[in-house]
Amino acid sequence: ALAVRKVIIAGNWKMFKTQTEAQEFLQGFTSHLDETSEDREVVLCVPFTTLGMMSKSLHGSRILLGAQNIHWEDSGAYTGEISGPMLLEFGIRYVVVGHSERRQYFGETDETVNWRLRAAQRHGLTPILCVGETKQQRDAGETERVIFSQLEKDLIGVDQNNLVIAYEPIWAIGTGDTCETTEANRVIGLIRSKLINPNVTIQYGGSVKPDNIDDIMAQPEIDGALVGGASLQPESFARIVNYQ
Ligand code: PGA
Repeated sequence: ALAVRKVIIAGNWKMFKTQTEAQEFLQGFTSHLDETSEDREVVLCVPFTTLGMMSKSLHGSRILLGAQNIHWEDSGAYTGEISGPMLLEFGIRYVVVGHSERRQYFGETDETVNWRLRAAQRHGLTPILCVGETKQQRDAGETERVIFSQLEKDLIGVDQNNLVIAYEPIWAIGTGDTCETTEANRVIGLIRSKLINPNVTIQYGGSVKPDNIDDIMAQPEIDGALVGGASLQPESFARIVNYQ
């Protein structure tokens, strides 16, 4: 059976927050969450070092936990990496794979992204695959070609019934320069048209803020958001989750 499109609002904390800071965040965040937002999933993709504390604190809560990377092997001589079995101990459900910062600064390629996606699924985790074009590629009219090429390579042997995709135009990440919502909707529709399973949840990411989330979520092709900077403040991330 094909998975159903569901709404998922995920925070990506990147390399922010100690355990103490994460604990402070949770107190504020949970108190600002609206009961009426229960038709959507809320996920926090946090640093590895906060997973232990977070999994204990979130036990029995509606907030789900995610990691920001996973290695393709279960164990081995891979200094600085974290494997699926290590992550499973924290009861996480999601893992971000192929974020543009990993591709740009840590040598992640479509091949390693593909290995990591398959490792996540092998362990029953749902990967959030990030794809997106640079400003230069967009200006050169290569947006579609770049994204289709990423999808084709990244999704080899990947089960589309246990997958989330985030369309994150790189020029919109952390810049305050959000992609026009109709343009994000158009690209996400194109991504959907390339999938075997048209019901994959596809998020938009890139400068999502309390003041643009309502417009973003009103677009028919957009099933959620992957939120960086604005997920670090309890009030702003709660406002995003509570979108109208
Ligand atoms: P941003 O980051 O919301 O800070 O632009 C988004 C992301 O990188 O996932």
